[in-house]
Amino acid sequence: MSRIAYVNGRYLPHERAQVSIEDRGFQFADGVYEVCEVRGGHLVDERRHMARLDRSLSELRIARPMSAAALSVVMHETVRRNRVRDGIVYLQITRGVARRDFPFPPEGTPRSVIVTSRSNDPAWLEQMAGEGIAVVTVPDIRWQRVDIKSVALLPNVLAKQAARDRGAREAWLVDAQGRVTEGASSNAWIVSRDGTLITHPLGRDILPGITRSVVIDVARAQGLAFEERAFTVEEAYAAREAFVTSAGQIVMPVVSIDSRPVANGAPGLVASALRRDYHRHAEFS
Ligand code: PMP
Repeated sequence: MSRIAYVNGRYLPHERAQVSIEDRGFQFADGVYEVCEVRGGHLVDERRHMARLDRSLSELRIARPMSAAALSVVMHETVRRNRVRDGIVYLQITRGVARRDFPFPPEGTPRSVIVTSRSNDPAWLEQMAGEGIAVVTVPDIRWQRVDIKSVALLPNVLAKQAARDRGAREAWLVDAQGRVTEGASSNAWIVSRDGTLITHPLGRDILPGITRSVVIDVARAQGLAFEERAFTVEEAYAAREAFVTSAGQIVMPVVSIDSRPVANGAPGLVASALRRDYHRHAEFS
C-alpha cells in the first residue's frame, strides 16, 4: 500500500505528493513542524502539540493556515488513510511559495501544509527500551531560539550522524559551559546519585518537549524528587540513571554516554517506571 500524504488540501500517494521548488521551507527552512505519537489509532497529547505549534508559528510571525479543529481532522484522516495504529503523525507548515527573497512574502501568501503518518514497531521499541541506548556528547552549535520547533535542523542532522558514526543512537548537545542542553531530537535527563531526577529548565536553549512535560506530571505523581536545572557532562557520567524523552520513543533509557556505562550499564528503575506509567497521564484524541 502506498503511503498517503496531505499536501495543501489534497491527499496523495507519496510519489505524487509535491511542493514547489520555491517553497520557503525548501529555500530557507522557513517553517515549523510537530511530531505526535499515534497509539491505538489515537493521537497522543494533541492539545499540547497544537499549543506548541501555535507558539512556534507566532514567534516566527507565520499566520495559522487553518483552525485547530480543521488541522485535527487532517491529522486524524492522514493517520486513518495510512492505517497507522502505532507510530507518528508529522505536520509541517511553511511560510509558503514565493519568488526567492529573504523578507517575508506578501501578506496573504498561502502557507504550505503537509501531514504524513507512519507506523513504528512497538515490539522493536519495547526491546530497545529493555536494552537501553548509547549516547555521545557533541558541542551544541545551534541558533539561540531552539525553543521554536523550526525545520532548520542542520546542526541536529550533523549531531545525529556523529552519533551514528560513533555507534550511538542519540547525541547529547553540550553548551559552552559543559552542560547538556538536550538531545539532537529528544530531551535529556539524569537521575543523580542521591536519586533526584534532573532535566534542563525551559528557556530559549531547549525545545519544550511535550513528552518532557508529561514525564514531569508522571514524576510528581510517583513522588520523585525532581529538579529543573542544567547538569554537566561530568554529572551525567557519574549519574545513577540517564534517559531521553520524545514523542517517538516516550522514555528511552540511556545505558552509555561517550562509551562509559551509566551505573551498571543497564536501564534504570526510574526510567522504566516513568515509561510504564506514561500513557496513564497522556491525553488521547
Ligand atoms: N528536543 C529536540 C531538539 C527535539 O527535536 C525533540 C523531538 N521533536 C524533543 C526535544 C522532544 O520533544 P517532544 O517530546 O515534544 O517530542
